[in-house]
Amino acid sequence: MPSTKPEKLTFRQNVDLMADRAIKVLGLEEGVAQALKCCDSVLQVKFPVDISGKIQIFTGWRAVHSTHRLPAKGGIRFAPYVNQDEVEALAALMSYKCALVDVPFGGSKGALLIDPVQYNRDELQHITRRYTLELSRKGFLSPATNVPAPDVGTGEREMAWMADTYKHLHPEDVNYLGCVTGKPVRHGGIRGRTEATGRGVQYALQEFFRHKEDVKHANMSGGLGGKCVVIQGLGNVGYHAAKFLSEEDDVKIIAIIERDGVIVNKRGLPVEKVLQFIIKNKTIKGFPDGKFGKNGAKALEMECDILIPAAMEGQITRQNANRIKAKLIVEAANGPVTFEADKILNKRGIVMMPDTFVNAGGVTVSYFEWIRNLSHIRFGRMERRYDELQGRQYADMLEEVTDKKIPDGKRNKLIRGATEIDLVRSGLDDTMRLAYQKMREALLSNKKIHDLRTAAFVISIKKLANSYLDIGVF
Ligand code: NAD
Repeated sequence: MPSTKPEKLTFRQNVDLMADRAIKVLGLEEGVAQALKCCDSVLQVKFPVDISGKIQIFTGWRAVHSTHRLPAKGGIRFAPYVNQDEVEALAALMSYKCALVDVPFGGSKGALLIDPVQYNRDELQHITRRYTLELSRKGFLSPATNVPAPDVGTGEREMAWMADTYKHLHPEDVNYLGCVTGKPVRHGGIRGRTEATGRGVQYALQEFFRHKEDVKHANMSGGLGGKCVVIQGLGNVGYHAAKFLSEEDDVKIIAIIERDGVIVNKRGLPVEKVLQFIIKNKTIKGFPDGKFGKNGAKALEMECDILIPAAMEGQITRQNANRIKAKLIVEAANGPVTFEADKILNKRGIVMMPDTFVNAGGVTVSYFEWIRNLSHIRFGRMERRYDELQGRQYADMLEEVTDKKIPDGKRNKLIRGATEIDLVRSGLDDTMRLAYQKMREALLSNKKIHDLRTAAFVISIKKLANSYLDIGVF
């Protein structure tokens, strides 16, 4: 039996314990519960790469948690601290996430043990292509069975290398572009994928603030505008979430926590400027419009309305959970709150929006990208001009009937056909709204459910269990 003592829990055990709460609510029998939680398969690869005349051995993983739907889907991270337990935990979260937001994929995750900043572009390309070869040869990469995406330390560039390697290995596969998502748009990607996870965080918060009782339950009032936010991690997810929330929803980003410390400005930080400063200086220290502090972890405990951990797992633990002052924690990262911390925060009445919901925007838009790759056509290509024509006829008719001219701005809005990015954002917004509504419905209708995380797990696990039971796996 794995140890379940506080502080000794691995990421995987944390996820399993959270799943157990939902399994108890659902009253699933032990065998079913075990089968649901375990990873179907885990591949570990070790491969040599020639780096400047010296052979280096790299270790990577790809875990498949569930295959009740195919392909199995999940990001690939390049990081110097990954291990198999973490990859399995993340693969399990992917299964629960996909089920929650109705994305018809199984759950998977991959990782390469590497510090990407230690290698130049050519070396990284070589390493990524070699890792791709391993995954493909061993049956862990294909549009039909296993489709990676970006995660910590990877992005569009790595996905383009992976897709290209796969294409050369499988030139007969007409759907080769669907072997990974998160590709650059000019290499088969979809508009809106890079921003998708952060955009999903924004939509999740917008939906939360549409429910006055939920806002009150989190000891807040009013709308999203003017709320003070502390965000940890200004990477892909954190940057886009902070940017959209501050620029479009009038939220004040009062602190940005990065690896090397924190910058604070109670009047609100200019997110774009902060990012450009980090890109130029490789640190947030010295940013002119904010006060720098060395202790980033301590800043998680700052007074604020909303705390958005968007960096990595295990940031809020039983050590600091009692000192968190935020009223709402929005889990943009995977697993930022441990099982023990979750219990403490729930007792203290701090509301948490769980990771499987909050960061599901990434896999949702990946799903759209995969469909686009399989259908070999850009969304909106067939209907955009037709919609414009209809809009124009409608506007003309309106002018004729009312005998009034529609102002140009309004007319242009009326006749504009939806572009790919419009459709992607609309599909993502709908997904996030519906998922939140399902979670709150479960929370309000079942007395055994006391928090949004358990609600999310109940919804996902019920779907997974039904899917397995329907096809007679058990
Ligand atoms: P990223 O590598 O682009 O960004 C991570 C950021 O966090 C970096 O800026 C890094 O410097 C910072 N960081 C790392 N450790 C930190 C620490 N201890 N304190 C403060 N900052 C720290 O990664 P990402 O893609 O933005 O992913 C972030 C999280 O979101 C991960 O948990 C990932 O699994 C999850 N996620 C990502 C996606 C996606 O589409 N990229 C989708 C779903 C979930």
